[in-house]
Amino acid sequence: MAKRRSRNGRPDPADDGATRAGLPIRFSLLTADDRALVDPRTADGEPRALKTSEVVAQRVVADIVRDKLQIGDRLPAESVMLEQYDVSRESLREGLRLLETQGFLTIRRGPGGGPVVVGVDPRNLARMSTLYYHLAGANYEELFDAWLTLEPVVVRQVAETIARDVKRAALEPFFPQPEDTERERFMSTSNGFHAVLANLSGNRVLTLMLQAISHIVTEHIIRDLDPLNERDEISHDHAEIGQAVIDGKGAKAQRLAAEHISHIVDHYRTNYPAAVNELVEWR
Ligand SMILES: [Zn+2]
Repeated sequence: MAKRRSRNGRPDPADDGATRAGLPIRFSLLTADDRALVDPRTADGEPRALKTSEVVAQRVVADIVRDKLQIGDRLPAESVMLEQYDVSRESLREGLRLLETQGFLTIRRGPGGGPVVVGVDPRNLARMSTLYYHLAGANYEELFDAWLTLEPVVVRQVAETIARDVKRAALEPFFPQPEDTERERFMSTSNGFHAVLANLSGNRVLTLMLQAISHIVTEHIIRDLDPLNERDEISHDHAEIGQAVIDGKGAKAQRLAAEHISHIVDHYRTNYPAAVNELVEWR
């Protein structure tokens, strides 16, 4: 039976938590000394210790950052890294493989191959976060709610705090959106508008979080709709939001951003009424 949900996607207070799909979220800020406050379902001791391969991965990342490596740069040869990190070949390879799985490296096979720095791609954060959301039992309403809670506030902050010429230079290329009927290109430009807006905040945490949400929305939801039918409306919304941001009209930009997101969410609710209560898929 479908569980009752309030409009904002949070579980209905009347909904028995025990019947909620997904695993309980561990409140890891609480310590054993505060046992009375710890959810007994999750009070299962310390987080697990890191494996050698994970420690190697951490050291490799620290060295990438310290040495200011850029996208496309190669890591040292395996023999050099074995000496540098003083671990077994197996642990080194497993550590590099972990970073490859997270999307930070690509490992070219064969002679002349080896690990190459890829960069920070929010799509990988999106994929990893959907694993957490899925296991925790989060549904698409909760994802929408998070998006609607976060993005309009960031849009307002950008409108009110960033210099006009900086905002104009960043946003003007997006409106009017090119008369381009090619679906992938339209979606990538639309997504780009949201990415550039978030990036203008100068806050990399917010940029990564919002980009991850945006990628999940694009990959899981907008892909199922036909954005071309909505193209005029989306382009119109983006132009209005962009202009309000450039003009420094924070409250207006926030309201327009909230309306824009609500429009997409309502469109999805209308077309897929059952899907909003489904678990966020891990993909
Ligand atoms: Zn948009």
